[in-house]
Amino acid sequence: MKILWLQASGCGGCTQSLLGAESRRGVLARLAGGGVELVFHPALAEASGDEALALLAAAADGTLAFDALCVEGALLRGPNGSGRFHVLAGSGVPMIDWVRRLAARARHVLAIGSCTAYGGIAASGDNLLEACGLQFDGAEPGGLLGADFRAGSGLPVVNVAGCPIHADWVVDTLLALAAGAFAAGDLDALQRPRFYSEQLVHHGCPKNEFYEFKASAQKPSDLGCLMENLGCKGTQAHADCNVRPWYGVGSCLRGGFSCIACTEPGFEEPGHPFMATPKVAGIPIGLPLDMPKAWFVALAALSKSATPKRVRESATRDHPLPLPSTKKGPRP
Ligand code: SF4
Ligand code: SF4
Repeated sequence: MKILWLQASGCGGCTQSLLGAESRRGVLARLAGGGVELVFHPALAEASGDEALALLAAAADGTLAFDALCVEGALLRGPNGSGRFHVLAGSGVPMIDWVRRLAARARHVLAIGSCTAYGGIAASGDNLLEACGLQFDGAEPGGLLGADFRAGSGLPVVNVAGCPIHADWVVDTLLALAAGAFAAGDLDALQRPRFYSEQLVHHGCPKNEFYEFKASAQKPSDLGCLMENLGCKGTQAHADCNVRPWYGVGSCLRGGFSCIACTEPGFEEPGHPFMATPKVAGIPIGLPLDMPKAWFVALAALSKSATPKRVRESATRDHPLPLPSTKKGPRP
């Protein structure tokens, strides 16, 4: 499966993240092992300048065969729908026109990152850039290609959402597409691959013991759960970050940061500081998606009253003390 990769209005972080994919041989060799070949990428391909433009022109007019178009970064339609806020260097042609022409020839079209899926960072504020995703504008279907767009395979745009993407979300999606093992039913309602979006970031979080007892952090660096005070949206964010750690070891939560739900449309504008939890009458507005709200409120009150001393005291420290007791009695 031959891939053309374009970078629209993004920070390049998704490519950086992809390059960190776990593999002794490197991500390109890992993809090649599954029959996936990167024929053009603005940062990684040998072709540049006129040679790169000729390659893209050949792909757009059908004389160069390729299978999948990967786009990284939001699509800028401004000013006034002209797309001239982002012209592909040297071509004089707006990036959105390149994307439209290439998408029409592609067997598969992938949005790499939340910018390309939903608009992301570039679409925040008043969105003077008229930024959007390939097939969504925020959570609304539409975007650059329109809600009815289907690639040559019959699939809509595959939204590998995340800011940045987890390398394995991209690699596994590409390998599944190349193997013919990916169908429309493998996408969720926001067109994200279900293999990673059918879990919550909360699942597998190392702070789950604190969450269970509602033992909450009060400040950054505290060990406790970050939901009550520090803005964590792990219970509402669809991704497997803590089940499938990044690069085999990390996640935002494992680094001590709150989940900001970067795989969700509109994450860039939560309407409050990222590291703060909006509340009504002391109860967080954003409650877990996987249980009824009344249960959560009742369980929170009950579990807070039953919090073990070790968990309660550790929640507001930067290292766990006191240690668990042994059968012979408490440790010093
Ligand atoms: S999704 Fe995030 S990391 Fe990826 S290009 Fe956009 S801003 Fe950068
Ligand atoms: S910090 Fe966030 S993801 Fe971790 S247990 Fe608390 S709510 Fe869940």
